[in-house]
Amino acid sequence: MDHFSHSLPRALLFILGGLATVLPGFGATMKLVVTNARLFTMVSGQEKPMNGFLVVAADGTLDAAKEGTPPPEVLAERQFRAERDSGIRFVHGINIGRVGPQWSTEQANAFTKGFVEWVGAQPPTPGFLSVMINGAGTFVGTPAQAKAEAEVMRTLALGNQTHFLESPPDKYEERAKFRWLQDAGLLGPGLLFGHFVHTDPWILRETVHAGAGMSWNPLSNGRLASGIVDIPAYVKAGLRIGMGVDGQASADRADPFENMRMGLYQVRARYEDASVLSPYDVLRMHTVGSADVLGVADRLGSLAPGKLADFLVLDPSDLGPIFDPYASLVFVAGTRDLARVYVGGELKVLNGQTVGPAFAQARAEVAKRVKTPGGP
Ligand SMILES: [Zn+2]
Repeated sequence: MDHFSHSLPRALLFILGGLATVLPGFGATMKLVVTNARLFTMVSGQEKPMNGFLVVAADGTLDAAKEGTPPPEVLAERQFRAERDSGIRFVHGINIGRVGPQWSTEQANAFTKGFVEWVGAQPPTPGFLSVMINGAGTFVGTPAQAKAEAEVMRTLALGNQTHFLESPPDKYEERAKFRWLQDAGLLGPGLLFGHFVHTDPWILRETVHAGAGMSWNPLSNGRLASGIVDIPAYVKAGLRIGMGVDGQASADRADPFENMRMGLYQVRARYEDASVLSPYDVLRMHTVGSADVLGVADRLGSLAPGKLADFLVLDPSDLGPIFDPYASLVFVAGTRDLARVYVGGELKVLNGQTVGPAFAQARAEVAKRVKTPGGP
């Protein structure tokens, strides 16, 4: 359950050599800060030296590597179309904009309302679940953003996902901002924290009390050296926990099997005790738990009459002897065992190949535009 890295073919561009940091936040658009890098673009199939700031739009045409940012409504609609065309099940994340002298809460509200209405006017989109705010309340220097987001959440009945307490050096400053979320009335069942690594007992207690949830991202937390989440303590406290793979900033491999394994291994290694977390626990968090924190547990997360038929079919041939199916799934299984992927009862992946016109078209575009070094 993520945006860009799941919804489109991975190979949009390569940064060759030098340093590059990829910042998530625009969903289907990648915002890159690059230094002394060589950019290999899909547009021309050519390398060019890069310094500074670049936005790469990915609206399904694989066509645009442009400098500059289109207007927010264009970005939001383009992102929605990419999600829709990919055939994935999705919660759309909307940026309400940074509130300040240039952008009032009223403007943020009107912009978000306009987008929600635009979504409502679209032809039926089977994969679409809901619109949620991409929270920025803890990324800024004043409580104004949290207040504005709380206001938009209230008036439009939207949820909010906020990445919080991820980076170790920022943890003390960020913990102090927890108050802003509380005071704004943002802390509640509609709030979902991403990462949530460096809590303190008070923040954990208040979050549980308010009914907010979290997305545990162990692959990302390891990749970015963010830390190990104390999941057993969170479970004990009664926190709602789902699992995810963060955005394209750290999801080199957006793989739920690796994510479950990595999470279980981190926690067991930290505690030096295998009994603190089981394969069943992580499988549950990655399915029902994720659906719960996204507010869609009534429709997704488990196989039950009346729910949407999103499920995987695994070929067990290479799993060895199976004593406990949950243990085999979490300890042994991987994407190589994936025989079929269904979304809404529709076949999307068959034996490692995506099916459907959007994927076929995207693959053809990739083949046409990307030159293999030393190849034709
Ligand atoms: Zn993140």
